[in-house]
Amino acid sequence: MLEKTLGMVTIQNIIIVSLLLIIMVTMYLFMYRKKKKDLQDFLDEKVKVFQNVFNVSEDAILILTDKNEILYANKAAVDFFSLEKYFKFTRLDIPQVKIKNEWINLDTLIKTSSKKFKERMHVFANTECKLQKSEEVFVINLYFNTTYMNVDHTAPCTILVFDDMRKEKEKSLLGSRHKLTKLPNQQQAIKDLNALYGKLHLNEQKIALVLMNIDNFSTLRSIVGYEQSNIILIKFADYFNELAKEFQFSVYHTVHNNFLLIMPNIDSTKDVLSVVKRIQHELISFYTMGNSNLHLTASAGISVYPESSKTYNLLDDAYKALAAAEKNGHGRIEIYEPSQCQHDYDELKLYNDMHQALSKNEFEVYYQPIVDAKTKKVVSAETLIRWHHPEHGMIGPNIFIPIMEKTGLIVELGKYVLEEVLKQQKRWELFKFRQIDVSINLSLLELESGKFVEYVVQQLAQNQVSPELIKFEITEGSAMISEEQTSKQLLELKRIGINISLDDFGTGYTSFSYLKKIPANILKIDRSLIINIVKNEEDQRIVKAMIELGHTLGMEIVVEGIEYQEMYEMILSMDCDYMQGYYFSKPLPVFEFQKLLR
Ligand code: C2E
Ligand code: MG
Ligand code: MG
Repeated sequence: MLEKTLGMVTIQNIIIVSLLLIIMVTMYLFMYRKKKKDLQDFLDEKVKVFQNVFNVSEDAILILTDKNEILYANKAAVDFFSLEKYFKFTRLDIPQVKIKNEWINLDTLIKTSSKKFKERMHVFANTECKLQKSEEVFVINLYFNTTYMNVDHTAPCTILVFDDMRKEKEKSLLGSRHKLTKLPNQQQAIKDLNALYGKLHLNEQKIALVLMNIDNFSTLRSIVGYEQSNIILIKFADYFNELAKEFQFSVYHTVHNNFLLIMPNIDSTKDVLSVVKRIQHELISFYTMGNSNLHLTASAGISVYPESSKTYNLLDDAYKALAAAEKNGHGRIEIYEPSQCQHDYDELKLYNDMHQALSKNEFEVYYQPIVDAKTKKVVSAETLIRWHHPEHGMIGPNIFIPIMEKTGLIVELGKYVLEEVLKQQKRWELFKFRQIDVSINLSLLELESGKFVEYVVQQLAQNQVSPELIKFEITEGSAMISEEQTSKQLLELKRIGINISLDDFGTGYTSFSYLKKIPANILKIDRSLIINIVKNEEDQRIVKAMIELGHTLGMEIVVEGIEYQEMYEMILSMDCDYMQGYYFSKPLPVFEFQKLLR
């Protein structure tokens, strides 16, 4: 009986205790929720007023409970701590701060500081800080104040303000950075160079400056659009940044599509060349749009101290070298050489080198478009030869053609160009490019070499190319020298369907009656006659008369050397048929040129 009673009491007690427990837990939860709600209501009310002010603040502002739960975070704080969308009452990942050379958790700092001076603003200026998910150490100004947010003073909260000093640094850097790519800009480059020059006496350093331009950037921009071309520049800058770490150079984005590399402490120019070549190589397959790869090329100008440039000239010389590289086409590298800029080549050396240059494949045929004057459509092209000299880089024909003419080697070169062009025409036909005729510059020596016409006929047949697809250009001077011989051969060429242009017209002494005798059907007016055409009225009259004369003789007219809009408009008003010049395009390597035929 007693046992039974005891058992009942125990069960009853258990039930009572359990009930009590449930009631207590429910009450606690109710109280806790209420407290939390009170606190939130109170805070919402208070913060509402200042919300807008807080949100425009660049400082990160946080209010934390004593359990490190977030009650409030302004926009800057959401960014600073990468907070989730619903962050209220979630726990903050407490950052670490370095105080007296020791890393401590921020909440420990708050507790120990608040114990000493309650209700007082604590300031820790220039303090190093580390967020939990990152190893980056950065400097902040830290302010906090522990206070009671609710009416009954039971919930201590801490208001925290983080002033991230990285922003200050960013702002001060902004003036010395390129707006788009954030690379240091030209002003910064000049400052850095001056600092570098100042240290030169300390050890005998060699410095190289490399200026690189993405070729044809305005055309690229018109094809891919403004935004894509900006993306290309940003990608290019990122690429340079990575490379800069590997090769320990500094990179600057000077203007537009122009980048500067400062390479201090180089061993030799060869090292610089190998870096630049690598960049050029990697740039080819650097950017793809959809399925197609944009074949980007860049030209480079290099200046080296003390080899070729004095320090205060380094940047100017690099620009000169770049200009020379760009003049020669695309994807070229020029090293500034004071002598090279005056075209002071050693003729004897070139003469010796050029004998092997053909077999070593050092020549390359470039193509410059000839456009319809009215529509600007590419209707033809002129081939212009370039020599990739192993030491001098690219050499233009004005340097080596005269030597080749003296030595007779021009005949071999002429054969090479003709064969290259015919092979190219065949390729364009096979790959369904728009077919245009291509004109080849002919030297008098080739015409006189005997059996020239037979050779051309045989080559046309061998490559299965129609004669209408090639033209020959003969200069006014050479046409005059051996009038009879030349005329005979030119007539034969015309008979088989090959058109003849009279090149560089206006530089010789051709009389009108003489012109009639030369069997050319195209007249190319020389660049020298139109250089000043926009301003010089006499030149305007001469060129106009030449065009009229050519037309009277049944010839078509090409004006060479059109470099800008006003020139184009003036020549167009003179009723010229075709034009050629940098305004439309520089001479291009075949890969670049054929894009114009798509
Ligand atoms: P050219 O036949 O009168 O060729 C035109 C020249 O003017 C080219 O110079 C071309 O690059 C340049 N040019 C074209 N547009 C402009 C422009 O808007 N502004 C300026 N400043 N220049 C422009 P390049 O390529 O240096 O050729 C020079 C000459 O060398 C040619 O004059 C031609 O007579 C000769 N040449 C070139 N390739 C060959 C070749 O394969 N065989 C022979 N025999 N001679 C060649
Ligand atoms: Mg020509
Ligand atoms: Mg010419």
